[in-house]
Amino acid sequence: MNSLNAAFKALPSVDKALQSEALSPLVVKYGHEAVKAAIRSKLDEVRNEISAGDSSLVDAILEKNYFSNFCKEVAGNVSSSFVSSLIPVLNLTGTVVHTNLGRARLPAEAMSAIETVATQATNLEFDLVTGKRGDRDSHIEKSICEITGAEAATVVNNNAAAVLLVLNTLSPGKEVIISRGELVEIGGAFRIPDVMKSAGCTLKEIGTTNRTHLRDFENAINQDTGLLMKVHTSNYEIRGFTNSVPEEEISNLAREKKLNFVSDLGSGTLVDLSQFGLPHEPTVSETLANGADIVTFSGDKLLGGPQAGVIAGKQELVQAIKRNPLKRALRVDKITMAALASIINLYRDPQRLAQRVPLIGDLARPVSEIAALADRLLPDFVEKLKNRAEASIEDCKSQIGSGALPLDLLASKAIVLRPIAKKGATDASLQKLAADFRELSKPVIGRIHDGKLLFDLRCLHDEEELRRLLLQLPV
Ligand SMILES: *Cc1c(COP(=O)(O)O)cnc(C)c1O
Repeated sequence: MNSLNAAFKALPSVDKALQSEALSPLVVKYGHEAVKAAIRSKLDEVRNEISAGDSSLVDAILEKNYFSNFCKEVAGNVSSSFVSSLIPVLNLTGTVVHTNLGRARLPAEAMSAIETVATQATNLEFDLVTGKRGDRDSHIEKSICEITGAEAATVVNNNAAAVLLVLNTLSPGKEVIISRGELVEIGGAFRIPDVMKSAGCTLKEIGTTNRTHLRDFENAINQDTGLLMKVHTSNYEIRGFTNSVPEEEISNLAREKKLNFVSDLGSGTLVDLSQFGLPHEPTVSETLANGADIVTFSGDKLLGGPQAGVIAGKQELVQAIKRNPLKRALRVDKITMAALASIINLYRDPQRLAQRVPLIGDLARPVSEIAALADRLLPDFVEKLKNRAEASIEDCKSQIGSGALPLDLLASKAIVLRPIAKKGATDASLQKLAADFRELSKPVIGRIHDGKLLFDLRCLHDEEELRRLLLQLPV
């Protein structure tokens, strides 16, 4: 009991710790408050451990070097608490637009646009001609309209927000008719039936999972109908005996019944991807030309820009959407606006997209280039991992990801690691290997498949950086 009391008494005082050799420089660097909070938190932790009867701790506290050890530990805690936990990683998963890895890498043009506006006051919502309040969307609307053929456009925080806002504006308290085969779940918590509910609409699902006909739409329309809707089945495909109603037919029916037709494109590309050797994905302008009154799409999927959701289409509908009070809650800031506007401008020169938009460059990257990269890197993997894994090059398929073109995989090359392990320990070695790559100073994220760790090199651009990182790997 005595030694417990002695330990409590011997604990460092906050003031003394603040002046210690280890912590005083951190007070200068990070400020008094943060260091004090870290000391207090460590003291609380130690007191709890003493109370819990940790006798080796009690002995340690009573030694004379305890004070300096305590301060060093707190210093480590303070320093690491100021390191950002949001850090860059190498995406070698083979999924190009990886939602968990932050989706698109922005082009240099977007970065300089962000830099220009981020640290200064801007005319974000200020009309320089009249000196009065301006329109946030004015910075982007013209170019979206030029590229898509839309009459008007507005931008919100992401495509989920775009869908929510459109439904809540155009069909509150009314039924939204949608094919049963299109009730998608995107991942995270975005599910069309739930979004409908949040938007205050009633979902009216029609047809069957595999087949929906125009007559299903016709039969479902009644005085409670607010909207006809189509959702791009971004992350799955229904094959076999299927039917879905072409946009033109839904649009004609909507016109006849004086209803609006909304199409949620999801990934929404502005250009025909087949020019880069990729499969065709419905473009925004095609969907509008097919008669959609409003389309919604993401800024950071196939567009390759910042997280945002674009709503484009008929002038009077977009105006109504902009007047919805929810718009205020879902709007984007000047940084997103600047980045998105600069990327949309790049789309006005489609020939140079693959050079200028990193996402398009990654998607269009020739497999021969990836293969050459794999050949150059293989010896480094073989040498570094000779005691842990067999390294080889294999054909693999990259996927676009984020619910874009789910079944269309791009031919690519991977460095493949097969752990050298005693029988039965293969899985543990594989997990350990993947974990070691995740612990590098820039984490290298691969994909585990079929007892192997794969690094798809499609999205690798700095091979020297990967070589340097490999040197850090435990052997
Ligand atoms: C991805 C997607 C969404 C959600 O878009 P976010 O930009 O992730 O919010 C909505 N609808 C469809 C069809 C999608 O593919």
